[in-house]
Amino acid sequence: RRHGRGGFRFFESAMEAQIQARRRLELDLRRALTLREFTLVYQPQVNVATGQITGFESLLRWNSANHGTVSPATFIPLAESSGLITALGAWGLRTACCEAARWPRPLSIAVNVSAMQVVDPGFLATIHGALTESGLAPERLELEITESVLLHDDGAALDVLRAVRDTGVRVSMDDFGTGYSSLSRLHSFPFDKIKIDQSFVRAGPDHPSGRAIVRAIAALGHALGIDTTAEGVETEEQFARVAADGCTEVQGYLISRPRPPEEIGELMQAPAFGARRST
Ligand code: C2E
Ligand code: MG
Ligand code: MG
Ligand code: MG
Repeated sequence: RRHGRGGFRFFESAMEAQIQARRRLELDLRRALTLREFTLVYQPQVNVATGQITGFESLLRWNSANHGTVSPATFIPLAESSGLITALGAWGLRTACCEAARWPRPLSIAVNVSAMQVVDPGFLATIHGALTESGLAPERLELEITESVLLHDDGAALDVLRAVRDTGVRVSMDDFGTGYSSLSRLHSFPFDKIKIDQSFVRAGPDHPSGRAIVRAIAALGHALGIDTTAEGVETEEQFARVAADGCTEVQGYLISRPRPPEEIGELMQAPAFGARRST
C-alpha cells in the first residue's frame, strides 16, 4: 500500500506503453506489405493409409525489421481489426497459387481465409485473379475457413462460399470443434474436409474426452464422405491413435514443420511417410 500512488502511476504508464507498442506494431504492419516482409511457409498434409503427401497448407510469416519474427497469432488479429487483412489475404492467395503452380507435382494448396475476406465484395474477383494469374487449376486450391466465418452470417458468406465451390475450389472447415454450433455449420454448407483442432488431437491419456471427440468427428466425416485431417500431430503415439480413430489425413511436426517454398520440391521427392518410419 505504501507504493499506492506510485504503483498506480506505474500501472497507467505501463498501459500507455502497451497501447503505444500496439500502435507501432499496427503502423509497421501497414508498411510490411510494401516492404516485402511477408513470406509463406508450407506444411505437408499426409494421407494416413498411404503415407503420401496429398497437399500443403500455406502459413504466413512476418519477418519485421523492427519486431523480428512476429507470430500470425499476433498479426492476423491485428490485420483483421485494422482492415489490412483484405490486402494481406489477397497477397497470400496470389503468392500461394503462383508458388504451387511451379511445384514438380500438382498437389493441392490450402490457404487460410479470414471471415472479413469472405464478406469483402472483392473476394470472388481475388480468387479468380489468383487462379488466372498463376494458371493453377481451381481443383488444386482449397480454402480453410474457421467457424467464425459463419458466426455473424445472414447467409451472405455462405452464398459467396457456394459460388467459390461452384468454380471447383474446395472449402475446408478449420479448427473444427473450437467454435460455436459446429454441427449446424456442417448442415448448412457442403464442406469438403474437416480439420480437427490440435487441442483434441494432443489431449493426452488424462483427457479421454479428446480422443472421444476425435473419434466422433472422424465418424462424422466418414458418414458425410469427406476427409478428416488431424492437426498438430507431434508424436508416433498420436499418429497411431488418430489413424486408429479413423482420421484420413494427418498434419503436424511429426511429418514436417512448415517449410520455405524452395524446400517443397525436395519434400515431394521423399519416400512415403510410413516407408520412412519403418526403415
Ligand atoms: P491454423 O490454420 O490452424 O494453422 C495451424 C497452425 O498450427 C500453424 O501455426 C502451424 O504452424 C501449427 N502447427 C502445425 N503442426 C503443429 C504441431 O505439430 N504442433 C504445434 N504446436 N503446432 C503445429 P501458425 O503458422 O503459427 O499459424 C497460426 C494461425 O494463424 C493459423 O492456424 C491460422 O489461423 C492463422 N494464419 C496463418 N496463416 C494465415 C493466412 O495466410 N491467412 C489467414 N487468414 N490466417 C492465417
Ligand atoms: Mg489452417
Ligand atoms: Mg487449424
Ligand atoms: Mg487456427
